[in-house]
Amino acid sequence: MLFGAHCSGGVKKALDNAVAMGADAVQLFVQSPRTWRFPNHDPDDLARFRDRRAETGIAAAAVHALYLVNLATPDDAMYEKSVETMRATVDAACALEADAVIFHVGSHLGAGFEAGLERVVPALAQVLDRCSETTWLLMENTAGAGGTIGRSLDELVTIFDALSRHARLGVCLDSCHLYASGTDVTHRAALDALLADLDARMGLDRLRALHANDSKAPLGSNRDRHDNIGDGLIGEGLGAFIAHPKLQELPVYLEVPGQDGHGPNAEELEKLRDLHARWQ
Ligand SMILES: [Zn+2]
Ligand SMILES: [Zn+2]
Repeated sequence: MLFGAHCSGGVKKALDNAVAMGADAVQLFVQSPRTWRFPNHDPDDLARFRDRRAETGIAAAAVHALYLVNLATPDDAMYEKSVETMRATVDAACALEADAVIFHVGSHLGAGFEAGLERVVPALAQVLDRCSETTWLLMENTAGAGGTIGRSLDELVTIFDALSRHARLGVCLDSCHLYASGTDVTHRAALDALLADLDARMGLDRLRALHANDSKAPLGSNRDRHDNIGDGLIGEGLGAFIAHPKLQELPVYLEVPGQDGHGPNAEELEKLRDLHARWQ
């Protein structure tokens, strides 16, 4: 397993922040997470990221798309902005030679899953065209709040099939979102069933990344509230997820608040590694 974290600092600094915290893998944003504005990345900065990654031996790198993106929205202006942002994100991720762009599919905002699907599929088709053999698009499962799409494997498989099992489309599973959407990640049998289902319907090779987060919100609550490793309702049982034998080749990224609210740090990463070791 490759232990990583979402690191602040973007294209210029996230990689060094990951190295400083002792990570094997880095997840980053390629734009400010609070605004739609997409920066013109200096080609030198993109090249430096690739060089530094080779030097430092960071084995996996993923870009997380802007949280504001909503490919399922019925609103045309929001939809256009979302598609444009996803295209720019994939282009930047390809230039970085990142392994993936991880994204939340979005919310149909009450219009219903079918209506949302009609928006998502053509959007993803054109974004997937820009991916490379190295850089895939990974749909992240959601906690299931509101009209968010991706609350179950069924929903992810429906999108996957509607895109004819596109060669560069995969998934990222988030432990907090699984728990909030009703899959008890602390139970080996529940994980075995989920992974067998994923393998049968998509192929386990489509699962390319994990997010390890504890949850402040209860099982099945559909609320997305990340907690630090060991501090939430998943607790020690998160070990069942990260130490599952079928997941050991994957990068796992922390997206925890951190003790100070500044996000993942060396201490959280250490807790994750310790937990993993205890469950071996
Ligand atoms: Zn996540
Ligand atoms: Zn979340």
